[in-house]
Amino acid sequence: MYRIRQVKVKVEEDNIDNLLTKISKKIKVDKSKILDYKIKRKSIDARNKNEIYFVYEVDIDTNEKLKLSDDIIISPNEEYIFNEKGNLLLDNRPVIVGSGPAGLFCGYLLAKSGYKPIIIERGEQVEDRLKTVEEFWNNNKLNISSNIQFGEGGAGTFSDGKLNTLVKNENNRMNFVYETFVKFGAQEEILYSYKPHIGTDVLINVVKNIREEIIKLGGEFRFNTCLTNINIENNKVTSIEVNNNEIIKTSVVVLAIGHSSRDTFEMLNKLGIKMEAKPFAVGLRVMHNQDEINKSQYGEKYKDLLGASPYKLTYKASNNRGVYSFCMCPGGYVVNSSSEENRLVVNGMSYSKRDSKWANSAIIVTVFPRDFGDKPLDGINYQKALEERAYKLGNGFIPVQLLGDFKLDKVSTEFRSIKPEFKGKYNFANLNNLLPTELNDSIKEAFISFGKKIKGFDTDDTVLAGVESRTSSPVKILRNEDFISIEGLYPCGEGAGYAGGITSAAIDGIKVSEAIRRKYKEF
Ligand SMILES: Cc1cc2nc3c(=O)[nH]c(=O)nc-3n(C[C@H](O)[C@H](O)[C@H](O)COP(=O)(O)OP(=O)(O)OC[C@H]3O[C@@H](n4cnc5c(N)ncnc54)[C@H](O)[C@@H]3O)c2cc1C
Repeated sequence: MYRIRQVKVKVEEDNIDNLLTKISKKIKVDKSKILDYKIKRKSIDARNKNEIYFVYEVDIDTNEKLKLSDDIIISPNEEYIFNEKGNLLLDNRPVIVGSGPAGLFCGYLLAKSGYKPIIIERGEQVEDRLKTVEEFWNNNKLNISSNIQFGEGGAGTFSDGKLNTLVKNENNRMNFVYETFVKFGAQEEILYSYKPHIGTDVLINVVKNIREEIIKLGGEFRFNTCLTNINIENNKVTSIEVNNNEIIKTSVVVLAIGHSSRDTFEMLNKLGIKMEAKPFAVGLRVMHNQDEINKSQYGEKYKDLLGASPYKLTYKASNNRGVYSFCMCPGGYVVNSSSEENRLVVNGMSYSKRDSKWANSAIIVTVFPRDFGDKPLDGINYQKALEERAYKLGNGFIPVQLLGDFKLDKVSTEFRSIKPEFKGKYNFANLNNLLPTELNDSIKEAFISFGKKIKGFDTDDTVLAGVESRTSSPVKILRNEDFISIEGLYPCGEGAGYAGGITSAAIDGIKVSEAIRRKYKEF
């Protein structure tokens, strides 16, 4: 197979026939001699708003011999292969704590290789969790064990399901992640889209299908089961305690607990597991009309042809703070993502079609241990204080303000040209009272710059909501080159500080499964 790169097709002429014609011209081989093809990447070249192109990479099969060049190469092998196995015997089944992307991918690979993992999850299985979350959004009844942060599928289950990551595709682990998602029900496009996304509605089903496969392969899931202690002898894990009342014997525990499991971090800190505070980012969610974003990004001619547009913005404020857009959800919703009583946090999600009328993203500023303290749990305490303030400001609901009023330091009274829908109830409030003044100033300054990049981004009608505080883990659980913290304890994924987002968390789950497979014999 050959890989043909940089095949450009005008957006309005985008179909397979035209794509194959372009390829045939590029490789100077008649179309009839292209025996098979597979799209490997599809991106957009929108530099000229009067003529926007899709840019393809396509693998083709032909009996003709092609002259190789930068744009015509032999297709690389992109299969994920890991066949190593260790010699150490396991007395008991390995336990994975958490069924987010890190835990699920670690569990899937361990199950596939015969280790029969037990996956414990403090929240509910995804079908029940869906009902619990909807109950919270509709009636503000929070279940502190099963919510947007906790439950089967992890924090990203109710999300846009964006799969972009800055992590490299070493050993084809990323391909394995995307292929696994597709195998269990995600859209084929994620295999080649330059901005792959799944959407909450599809993701829920994918998570359920992965669970069923793990069970078929000999794994076991235990929902509503919270890790409450780890028993350690001679610096080795011997068993764990769940729900404060049951012991599970095991010498291998994967801590794929995500970034919101504050009681678990406290327990680990008390046990003396080495952790340190790490930088993270906080800020506000911003909402616009998606139409306006499309117009600005794609121009009048293409605004309705390319689906809901994403954006990415960065700015360095005069006080040297970096401000940037994060977790942009085209055609999505701002959601109440709280997981603790009397504390409130927001995030964004969208469905697979990205068909709401609103665009949202977090506009966030990085904060460092110098802002909140350098003891391991200081960042968590900083987050807690912000979330308590958000809860009070909104009287228990999402605090919301128009950008114009944020600048004028007054509470808004009604929405104007942007009338967003939230998942969860809201109240108007003065968001100046939420973040420290220095961060508010950085955000206000950034809006002026962002308004120059995307027309209307800084209009006074722009809607803000708070607080965006769970952007990444405020803690790092240290691990060595064998991926262990102490013998048998494997910190993994976003909560442990080794990932940021669905794909990188899944990749870290794969890496941890490799470390376990390299050391132990199957169970
Ligand atoms: C609303 C929202 C939208 C998001 N959108 C995106 C997006 O579009 N794209 C993207 O890449 N990322 C997104 N993210 C971030 C993404 O969800 C995380 O990066 C990812 O889920 C991290 O994976 P993880 O497996 O490391 O941890 P998590 O997904 O957080 O999973 C950890 C799991 O461990 C469980 N757990 C914790 N403690 C215990 C315990 N003591 N005992 C038993 N179980 C426990 C939790 O219940 C949870 O299910 C979003 C997050 C949210 C909240």
